[in-house]
Amino acid sequence: MLDDLFIRLDQLVPGSSVFLKLEGLNPAGSVKLKTAVALVAAAEDSGRCFPRTRLIESTSGNLGVALAMVCAAKGYRLTCVTDPNATVQSRRLMEVLGAEVVVIDVRDVHGGYLQSRIDYIGERLRRDPDLFWLNQYANPAGPQAHRDRTGRALLQEIGHIDYAFIGAGTTGTLMGCAEYLRRHSPATRIIAVDAEGSVTFGGPAARRHIPGLGTSRRPEILDTGNIDEVVLISESAAVEMCRTLAEERGLLLGGSSGTVLCAVQDAAKEIPDGSVVVAISPDFGDRYLETIYNDDWVAERWPETVGNKKISQAP
Ligand code: PMP
Repeated sequence: MLDDLFIRLDQLVPGSSVFLKLEGLNPAGSVKLKTAVALVAAAEDSGRCFPRTRLIESTSGNLGVALAMVCAAKGYRLTCVTDPNATVQSRRLMEVLGAEVVVIDVRDVHGGYLQSRIDYIGERLRRDPDLFWLNQYANPAGPQAHRDRTGRALLQEIGHIDYAFIGAGTTGTLMGCAEYLRRHSPATRIIAVDAEGSVTFGGPAARRHIPGLGTSRRPEILDTGNIDEVVLISESAAVEMCRTLAEERGLLLGGSSGTVLCAVQDAAKEIPDGSVVVAISPDFGDRYLETIYNDDWVAERWPETVGNKKISQAP
């Protein structure tokens, strides 16, 4: 896996250095490969996982793809429980890699799908006692992998970090990086970035459309002790950032990357000259061609965002 690929986006914070860590370069196409490897290793360590054991997990897409790769390579069967926000590309990747994909189309009390996905897993576990739930929302193996790999790579490669902007889904990446940075670089300001409408940090729930960041149920692994600030970004601003970066910088990033970069840009005025800023890009945009890079999909949800900035040109 590639732990050390960064690009510079200094123009987002004039006077400072901005490093974007490209996790889309991992073989599974996202930051979640490290989580997947760690979750399967923890399952093996539990002594309850044998050749052909079926593993089950709730996923917004990327973890499922990464787990499907790991399980295919190791000889485990896999069920991915996802929802309509997962892109068709992600679902197809999971299937092609041999996973069973279940799409749960029932909204929970917060208008999201997470609790419904977990409830479904609960039912499957009751029916099949040999099924093994990896449970990324509560499993400390996820944050540990990001502490030992992602967090360490950030500091080792960059050397000195004043500000770290990290998106929060299950919060595994955030928790792990925050733990590493707090211990080895205590002065680094750690900014958690989440989507408006996510309940992770106690905000009011609202409908969300972009997979990756945000939850409709607080993850058990979340501990806000190492977090200095939480920033919530609207999905429409994130989409606009992604599309602008694609058109004007030739950078095709996923929606959560756009969200994190909105937070960097919004903070620019408060960041002193000469600072070193780091942000994590969890994946690339090629999984979102039919969603955030599709004019019709965006116009249906946020008509003002596409406006006169259509990607597909009229003939
Ligand atoms: N961005 C994307 C595209 C993701 O798939 C995920 C995983 N849900 C995240 C961000 C958030 O990562 P984490 O679950 O480690 O908080």
